[in-house]
Amino acid sequence: MHIAERMRDVHGEAAFAQLARANELEKAGRSIVHLEIGEPDFDTPRPIVDSAIDWLGNGATHYTPSAGIPELREAIAGELRRISGADVGSEQVVVGPGAKMILFALIMSVVDPGDEVIVPNPGFPAYEAAIEIARGTLVPVPLRESNEFRLRIEDLESKITPRTRLIILNSPQNPTGGVLTREDLESIADLASRHDFLILSDEIYSEIFYGDRPESMLGIPSVRDRLLLVNGFSKTYAMTGWRLGFAVLPDDLVKTVVLFINSSVSCTAAFSQRAAVTAFAEQTRPCVDRMVGEFEKRRDLIVDGLNGIDGIRCLRPAGAFYVFPNVAALNVSEHVLAERLLEEAGVSALPGTAFGRFGEGYLRFSFANSLEKIGQAIERIDQFVRNLDT
Ligand code: PLP
Repeated sequence: MHIAERMRDVHGEAAFAQLARANELEKAGRSIVHLEIGEPDFDTPRPIVDSAIDWLGNGATHYTPSAGIPELREAIAGELRRISGADVGSEQVVVGPGAKMILFALIMSVVDPGDEVIVPNPGFPAYEAAIEIARGTLVPVPLRESNEFRLRIEDLESKITPRTRLIILNSPQNPTGGVLTREDLESIADLASRHDFLILSDEIYSEIFYGDRPESMLGIPSVRDRLLLVNGFSKTYAMTGWRLGFAVLPDDLVKTVVLFINSSVSCTAAFSQRAAVTAFAEQTRPCVDRMVGEFEKRRDLIVDGLNGIDGIRCLRPAGAFYVFPNVAALNVSEHVLAERLLEEAGVSALPGTAFGRFGEGYLRFSFANSLEKIGQAIERIDQFVRNLDT
């Protein structure tokens, strides 16, 4: 079969393949602790589910406008105004079937072949895939453990050229849990203005934090005309399967992105959109707070557990639900380690290099699993590492 050139170097998300292998082992009777996939293990809050059921019986079963239903666009704009204090109009909000599709629509809308796109590495693999398909040039910038996995401004500066079209930011970050500071955002904003490139800020983990609320690029007014903000419902409201994400865009980009949605998926499922309006209601907040409170306990358990194992060193992430421990001292490549942990110890994690080459020497664990399962995983990893020495 002839495969189009633009697809030849595209890698999908390794988490899905790893999950498939872990499920296969489980089917064969093995006990597996799942710490691979990046989705909350909680149910979608009941008010949202009830709303969807109502709407399904009330005609929310048809196409909607490509940009999303006006009620949801207004609700999203209102929520962002409330949280960030920024001036966000509903006409700047575009809804799509998942933040991943929105990312794709944005990259296809602004990146020409040969344009350079600066991307944090390790980082979410879908950025790289979309840039490949757009035939843009990927410019990885390392995230360093020594800088708490925050982008170093001097690293970024060294990657900027006259062809730089876009930088992608993700804070809180997948896979490291790193969170950019206000000063980081200001420095990046300053560089974007001086060198005239766009900023795509993927803030999908914005509500999953353990301490101060992470700063949003929306809070930097000087870059609003070059800011493509991405967020969604998957993580905050445990709605991965509903496929619902959104962007806040400069006025003159909205039409093109809506055209992309119109030409590809037409629109996002009507009942998903209707129910999502309920996500911002008072009665949903306690569900989110409970979930984040639970994540915080799990974070502490997994960080302390991993740091108690000889040869593993793990930072305590300030946001998202991932840890990215340094396993270089075990002297086994992260690939082999991830594979052996799954096959021999029944713990499913991802190699850091599934997120780019600067993930070498690291593993990623998602702590979207119960305290009991995380405790079990730590015991198994500890035992596995002890056996490595002998
Ligand atoms: N952005 C980041 C950084 C993610 O980690 C993910 C999901 O893992 C997404 C976007 C995609 O989310 P969605 O389910 O809305 O497509």
